[in-house]
Amino acid sequence: MNNRQAEMIELFSSIQGEGMLVGLRQIFIRLCGCNFTCNYCDTESNVSVEFCQMEGTPGRRDFIQVKNPVALERLTCLISGWQRGWPGIHHSISITGGEPLLHYELLQEWLPVLREFLPIYLETNGVLHKELSQVISHIDHVGMDIKIPSTSGCADLWKDHEAFLRIAAAKNVFVKAVIGNNTEDWEIIKASEIIASIDNAIPLILQPLTNPDGKIDIAPVKMLELQETASIFLKEVRIIPQTHKFIGQL
Ligand code: SF4
Repeated sequence: MNNRQAEMIELFSSIQGEGMLVGLRQIFIRLCGCNFTCNYCDTESNVSVEFCQMEGTPGRRDFIQVKNPVALERLTCLISGWQRGWPGIHHSISITGGEPLLHYELLQEWLPVLREFLPIYLETNGVLHKELSQVISHIDHVGMDIKIPSTSGCADLWKDHEAFLRIAAAKNVFVKAVIGNNTEDWEIIKASEIIASIDNAIPLILQPLTNPDGKIDIAPVKMLELQETASIFLKEVRIIPQTHKFIGQL
């Protein structure tokens, strides 16, 4: 890990706001850069930022600005100190972005070190399957997207999502799909068929689109209809909104 550096957005301690691990406390490592520009993106995902934010005390929001790139040794020392000072408060380390698998070479070296502290949770847009195959052995949980065209604006990623899920299925994986008023049945059927072709017990989370003002305006009946459609193919279909949007980013 000597001399390795990470292009960071932020490092902090908070509650997971989405998906199957919702409510659990995690250390978030948010890496710069993304291969997409989704309509609903709420992170500065596609830019390399000059300074990142690093929290000094877990959960106290005493951020300092640190110039990018940041030495892995520095980041690892901070996490190690949190583990010693606040043992047991964190469930896992969330590796997120942007798209963290853009940094798979760095993760190949860093994840085994981080995994000595806590289990590793990868939050990913679910297409970079070759990169995933390089790091999957160092990961415990995978939360992957299937990009629904009507909400994301991304088209025809189905084959990449399928190849990705085949690899991710070796771990504790769930799939998240962001749905909105314009989401059509065929999109949910397509996503569900892909998941079911690998394992129909893999959970699917339908996440209602949150507007920039923090509100959800998809009709409850529409959500339930889409849940019913997916449930034809899958054993576990949940509707979970982005909880951090209405309780505030903790
Ligand atoms: S994949 Fe995620 S981080 Fe990237 S643009 Fe889409 S929502 Fe933003």
